[in-house]
Amino acid sequence: MIDMNEDGNTRPVDARSRKIAIVCHCLLNANSKVEGLAVYAGIHPLIAELASRGIGVIQMPCPEMGACGMQRPGRTRAQYEYPAFIELCARLADETLTQVREYQRCDYEFVGLVGVAGSPSCGVSQPGVHISALQNRLEPLGICFAEIDEDAEGHRVDEVLRALAVDA
Ligand code: SF4
Repeated sequence: MIDMNEDGNTRPVDARSRKIAIVCHCLLNANSKVEGLAVYAGIHPLIAELASRGIGVIQMPCPEMGACGMQRPGRTRAQYEYPAFIELCARLADETLTQVREYQRCDYEFVGLVGVAGSPSCGVSQPGVHISALQNRLEPLGICFAEIDEDAEGHRVDEVLRALAVDA
């Protein structure tokens, strides 16, 4: 079957939803977290909620793992505000931006990007270094940001689904 988009271009129709969420690395791999801080075994329950709604997931790289490896200690945002780490996060954010632009060009919809509250790199309400770089690039493209709060009851998964407008 062939469909036509708004520009009059045709494309094959298949089972894909054309809906995508972008998530921080550890939501699909708790093993990347600072040792001692994981509160789930492997994949965060949010991912199953997204999967049950037919939403594809882009897993971004873990900037702390990339810069400091698996034996890194927990650090503050101020401790991560050094040039090499800021540059790494900018590079990773540029790679995500490239993917977003290409999907949007081809009529895919982004439901949003999900970070991790309290992370010096991936926090959203108190933006971490990686999220700050992503917000600069992706908010102008209409991407909304939400965050999993591992300190809260149910990790505020319901709030995240509402923020992404996929709670129905
Ligand atoms: S830096 Fe981000 S992706 Fe990596 S473990 Fe921390 S919150 Fe997760």
